[in-house]
Amino acid sequence: MAILTENLPDSRGRFGRFGGRFVPETLMFALEQLTAAYLEAKSDPTFQKEFRQIMADYVGRPSRLYYAKRLTEHVGGAQIYFKREDLNHTGAHKINNAIGQALLTKRMGKTNIIAETGAGQHGVASATAGALLNLPCRVYMGSEDIRRQELNVFRMKAMGTQVVPVESGSKTLRDAVNEAMREWMATVENTHYIIGSVIGPHPFPMIVRDFQSVIGEETIAQSFEQFGTLPNVVVACVGGGSNAAGMFYPFIPYSEVELVGVEAGGRSCESGEHASTLSYGQPGVLHGTFSYVLQDHDGQTSPVHSVSAGLDYPGVGPEHAYWKEIQRVRYTSVGDRDALEGFALCSRLEGILPALETAHGIVETVRIAAKRPKHERVVLCFSGRGDKDCAEIARLLKL
Ligand SMILES: *Cc1c(COP(=O)(O)O)cnc(C)c1O
Repeated sequence: MAILTENLPDSRGRFGRFGGRFVPETLMFALEQLTAAYLEAKSDPTFQKEFRQIMADYVGRPSRLYYAKRLTEHVGGAQIYFKREDLNHTGAHKINNAIGQALLTKRMGKTNIIAETGAGQHGVASATAGALLNLPCRVYMGSEDIRRQELNVFRMKAMGTQVVPVESGSKTLRDAVNEAMREWMATVENTHYIIGSVIGPHPFPMIVRDFQSVIGEETIAQSFEQFGTLPNVVVACVGGGSNAAGMFYPFIPYSEVELVGVEAGGRSCESGEHASTLSYGQPGVLHGTFSYVLQDHDGQTSPVHSVSAGLDYPGVGPEHAYWKEIQRVRYTSVGDRDALEGFALCSRLEGILPALETAHGIVETVRIAAKRPKHERVVLCFSGRGDKDCAEIARLLKL
């Protein structure tokens, strides 16, 4: 099956019927300006060179493609590899996008950046990019998340970022996105909003995917170098969907490679107990884009739950909705309890503490590898390290 998605989104920001721009009039100019600036930057070798240089010197790219030997032996099936985004500076894939968008901010002549954050990883990445590129930064964060993620709040403040508590709604990520968008409308002349995943109105899903595609591009090159062919299966966890989009996008034309996205199954499949948007959601509009959304019969966004704060989002990137619809990517979910077991297994066998988000991907990777012959290879996008989650995991596992 040959699928051509190279030219998506279309000029209206659509991936098939998904995507687009559902925003107030006041933001249309900023989104047009951003689209024009980005398309120019994309074809400007100087911009690309600067981005690659910071990725290499500062972030530490390319990240390793690591053969997880003990985990592979334990499972007894296909060979398991980790694409080590946890080894990036600041400990996750988020920095790739934050640096890219901070460079765009400078290119547009804007002087300030704002961002939203849930677990704090995107807030830390934006604060880092702000410090590096001398852009004053404000981060919107639900007061409930501020309480749960003390360490990341400290890291942001230490880098000179102002952390703004959001007291509305559930006081978590979706409320922080609402507040950041509202703030952006009021300050759009001199401020760029660095959105943290492949969500929001066009051109954000395209921009974030492109900056994160360094993950998949490196994985393809490293696969040929290290084992002379492409992997059979590629797995990534899906919150908003940025690490998965960056990993999957370069693989889309290789129809022989199976792609699997893993959402948060939470405590059960009852509404409010999980964050499996693509499995249990319906098409709808959230945060300026048409995609799958967890919602009730009246179209009100549902509450969400996951043990992992980074997967705890009631929407998902529109390109994932498209990939689901054309059946190029299979989406599944892994629950809280299994994710905690995945964390423990990877820590003990490999000496690598995964983020709880990543632990969801580990569980599905193990399930897939167990069913496949030894000569096949499964690559997991190892999205981040687990330090930020240690206090929470210790509480839950009574360690
Ligand atoms: C934020 C985060 C995620 C989820 O976000 P995506 O946009 O779906 O990638 C996954 N893993 C880690 C380590 C994160 O920090």
